Amino acid sequence: IVQLYVPLNWFGTYYRSIQKNFIDMENMFDLLKEEKDIIDAPGAGPVVIKKGNVEFSNVTFSYVPEKLVLKNVTFSVPAGKSVALVGPSGSGKSTIIRLLFRFYDVETGAIVVDGQNIKTVTQESLRRAIGVVPQDTVLFNNTIKYNIKYGRMTATDADVIEAARAADIHDKILSFPDQYETQVGERGLRLSGGEKQRVAIARTILKSPTVILLDEATSALDTQTERNIQDSLNRMCTNRTTLIVAHRLSTIINVDEILVLKDGEIVERGRHEHLIEREGVYANMWKQQLENKDSSSIENSLEQSN
Ligand code: ATP
Repeated sequence: IVQLYVPLNWFGTYYRSIQKNFIDMENMFDLLKEEKDIIDAPGAGPVVIKKGNVEFSNVTFSYVPEKLVLKNVTFSVPAGKSVALVGPSGSGKSTIIRLLFRFYDVETGAIVVDGQNIKTVTQESLRRAIGVVPQDTVLFNNTIKYNIKYGRMTATDADVIEAARAADIHDKILSFPDQYETQVGERGLRLSGGEKQRVAIARTILKSPTVILLDEATSALDTQTERNIQDSLNRMCTNRTTLIVAHRLSTIINVDEILVLKDGEIVERGRHEHLIEREGVYANMWKQQLENKDSSSIENSLEQSN
């Protein structure tokens, strides 16, 4: 039991820091005020993302000089395809996402989106162009309509409803006391984890980005909710370049490529069936997760197998 508690605790710490980062991503203006380290190159223009080709080539990165967090990471997410990042806690999954959002600049190597090195474009334009569905969405103390509209402030009411429908939350909203005008958030109606995630999906659908970063929720939802959310996510990600930090292997069986990270390196890569046949790290994780059906995340099963 002790063995189990310690890692879970650790995981909580990482989880909170990631959560913070994603909140920052959503409040990009606050973020621009806070992040002074990353400076736009003189004369940098806005990024132009049409196809949504994402490439990491030989990316090496460390937060502190003594410890490399990513070592020579190379992969690409071709336009419209989906790639999942899996691996134990601390292996560097979220760091990859943060680098693509340019919270930090890479030391060596390059991150290139549609032929543009992200170092050479404005951060603001990059963050505007990429959609993020965080693990835990923070709602503004405002109406549910405002919360969805945040994805694209110029959207019409009809657009908001269409996005809510696609995210499978429209009917739920109609059951709220003031429907789309219902106040939500800390000082209003509290939404469940699954509902909040659907608000994030609706927001992203409205934003309609070519590239989506998805941080899959670690908290277990009931099977039906999970299935509905997965359906909305799949719809949202169709034909968009998607990079997923996955915590449940069952949700990434159909992605175009799975990257297995360990200590900042890609140790295995390929589609689900291919990795199962390999009988390596991924196959082990899969076996563990089948055995621990009730423990929801990969990290938990990995910690238990250690
Ligand atoms: P998890 O599954 O827990 O989310 P992860 O695979 O996403 O983990 P990262 O968050 O990318 O892992 O962290 C990779 C490594 O970088 C870890 O060893 C972590 O301690 C370290 N790290 C993360 N953020 C920072 C930071 N801001 N400063 C210093 N080190 C950091």
